[in-house]
Amino acid sequence: PMSLRLSLFALAMGATALPALAEEVNIYSHRQPELIQPLLDAFTAETGITVNVAFVDKGMVERLVAEGDRSPADLVLTVDIARLIEVVNAGVTQPVDSAVLTADIPAEFRDPANHWFGLTTRARVIYASKDRVKPGEITSYEDLADPKWKGRLCTRSFTNDYNVALTAAVLAHHDAAYTKTWLEGLKSNLARKPDGGDRDQVKAIWAGECDIALGNTYYLGQMLADPEQSEWANSVRIDFPVFEGGGTHMNISGVALTKAAPDREAAVKLMEWLSSDEAQKIYAETNYEFPVKPGVERSELVKSWGEFTPDTLTLSDVAAKRPDALKLIEEVDFDN
Ligand code: FE
Repeated sequence: PMSLRLSLFALAMGATALPALAEEVNIYSHRQPELIQPLLDAFTAETGITVNVAFVDKGMVERLVAEGDRSPADLVLTVDIARLIEVVNAGVTQPVDSAVLTADIPAEFRDPANHWFGLTTRARVIYASKDRVKPGEITSYEDLADPKWKGRLCTRSFTNDYNVALTAAVLAHHDAAYTKTWLEGLKSNLARKPDGGDRDQVKAIWAGECDIALGNTYYLGQMLADPEQSEWANSVRIDFPVFEGGGTHMNISGVALTKAAPDREAAVKLMEWLSSDEAQKIYAETNYEFPVKPGVERSELVKSWGEFTPDTLTLSDVAAKRPDALKLIEEVDFDN
């Protein structure tokens, strides 16, 4: 049965040969493979355990449910607290009781029932034109709806996970009526229809199409490291907005062990390794994310973006508002 599982996974991944090692971890990743490859390479070099990654952009939960006990996947790696909770609620994960994980990851960044574990955090911030927006001109998420930004705002689709989570946080801080008005305000401030990813909005600022955009912090690091995009990155500054009476909106990336996990022991080893100082440092230096493990420093570049106060809402409270947030986004037909 093991070789069958392996060969199915190899087929799914388009691999040409079956790995020969006994210990092997298969990952379904909602994260871009190139972001996690440096981590997995370091893990394999240290442990000899082979790691295979299948990039699952859409339908992660449906796939795991359909595969059931025959799933070749050991681990799910994804961004967004709501996605982690969705996988857990679908009943396709199992708890991990690990003294290592509970020691490395602060309680607010893991499931009390040990089904999911946060590995990094990131902030959703404002990218502002260095030339056209003065520091201090925009300080809150609420301000994004101010008519003074008419024709000056760019964003990716608001049905994207990152913006749904942000809207869920607005909803948790205010109420449905306020949130709907806020969404309408943002929509009427748009310079163009939502399109592309967070980096495309920075490119639009560089091109003079808009002056402010929403984006996750680590994209600034990624753009600076890319010769084609560094010019875009240098045209903007990160401003850390806060919610009125709160802080800056945060989210996580994280991991969960599947219920079917063919190689549970090796998979838990990898989970524990991902919370180690060494892995957390790679997340910080290579991916420009914030490590979850206390004591592991942010990269010098990330530190240069400045200090900020994380929001006071818990991630699970934000995740709980997600369905209502998405309804409001659809009600105002944000993307059209
Ligand atoms: Fe991202």
